[in-house]
Amino acid sequence: MNNLNLLKDKVAVVTGGTRGIGFAIVKTYLKNGAKVALFGSREETVNKAISELKAENPNYDVIGYFPKLTDYKEVESAILRVKEVYGKIDILVNNAGVSARDSIFNYNPEDFDKTLSLNVNGVFYPIRAVVSLMKEQGGGVILNTSSMVGEYGQPAGVAYPTSKFAVNGMTKSLARELGKDNIRVNAVAPGVTRTDMVAALPAPMVEAISKNIPLGRVGEPEDVANAFLFLASDLASYITGVTLRVDGATMC
Ligand code: NAD
Repeated sequence: MNNLNLLKDKVAVVTGGTRGIGFAIVKTYLKNGAKVALFGSREETVNKAISELKAENPNYDVIGYFPKLTDYKEVESAILRVKEVYGKIDILVNNAGVSARDSIFNYNPEDFDKTLSLNVNGVFYPIRAVVSLMKEQGGGVILNTSSMVGEYGQPAGVAYPTSKFAVNGMTKSLARELGKDNIRVNAVAPGVTRTDMVAALPAPMVEAISKNIPLGRVGEPEDVANAFLFLASDLASYITGVTLRVDGATMC
């Protein structure tokens, strides 16, 4: 969504901000007047994302880091660096995540741990690192990327829906715990969205899912980013503890 300036002078951190849904969130936030620190997994992808954004608009105020999201110390020092650069953090978007489709009968236990580690610890760690800061500032907004499978489950790759159910639980629980500190905590649950993660799925699976979408199409990253814009903005000032579905009313 262009130039509504809904996030004028806000500072946002977006994990998994180098591509897909996260990159669309970063772009939408920048277009709406925010300063953004994007976190990615590698220096090259972070630099590439920043170059692309600066090529679009040299005035975008964007920086990037690549902390290992499963290492609390790395996450904490990246958050502190953002605070040093911009002086505050108003919005934290925990968007990085990995998916898996293995059958339970040959599920590798280490892969289960890996998915849970990034999708759950990788959400908890940035929150843990930022909450005191937000409390001192008088408030903030925390947004997590869930998934429609966090409501319906998924008939394969059990770690992924398990992790998204956990994200929903963390969202609701922290909304209750942090309301008194004026920190709102919400999640967005995308349906099938056109990103690399979806490109990696077998085509028949995507077709089967798409048939169940009443709006007749898969989502675009921008559809999801617009929900993140609304929830981050003051338009959502009385909304906390929700998981907002952005899935065209997909029936799984
Ligand atoms: P994507 O694969 O295009 O992007 C994933 C992002 O996560 C990338 O920016 C990547 O750098 C980051 N990431 C992956 N592993 C990481 C690691 N170990 N450390 C740090 N960062 C890492 O995927 P996407 O579709 O844009 O997914 C973004 C979020 O949306 C995920 O949480 C995903 O579960 C969720 N989601 C996606 C869909 C969909 O259909 N695309 C649907 C529902 C939910």
